[in-house]
Amino acid sequence: MMHKTVILVLVFICVVILIAWPLSYRADIGCSYRPHNRDTATMSGKDAFSMGFASGRVVLTRMQQVKRYTTPASLKWGPVEYRREETDGTLNVQRTQTISVSAWLLLIVIGVYPAIEFIRGPLRRRRRRRKGLCTSCSYDLTGNMSGVCPECGEETRRGENA
Ligand SMILES: [Zn+2]
Repeated sequence: MMHKTVILVLVFICVVILIAWPLSYRADIGCSYRPHNRDTATMSGKDAFSMGFASGRVVLTRMQQVKRYTTPASLKWGPVEYRREETDGTLNVQRTQTISVSAWLLLIVIGVYPAIEFIRGPLRRRRRRRKGLCTSCSYDLTGNMSGVCPECGEETRRGENA
């Protein structure tokens, strides 16, 4: 059951990426979190985060107020990119850190497990049915007449495994 939920969540994320991917070339899509307890005078408080899609990339941003400058950084490793930029804030330095990943890479990483299960699932169920096991949890159903697996409650075809 837990297993099915994980696959459903992964498939849902893949669908979201597939919808947002082409749209992100037209306009940036995203949501952001800004803490409420931010002190506007000193701009101190918790960090602000945002997550979204921009030009075919999934972008995670963290904005924070820091005391002093550090060297800006930009690292690119294939479809993965990291940036650290700093600009002058009211009193502090506004540091923006960004990690972005190409949408296609994320789609492959998230979609590979559901794709494998999509192929393996029916094969496994067929193998279990042939052996007289529950198709869901592989409990031995030899002699079971109730039509319901006593281990997981999965419906089994009555008489088939008897
Ligand atoms: Zn079962």
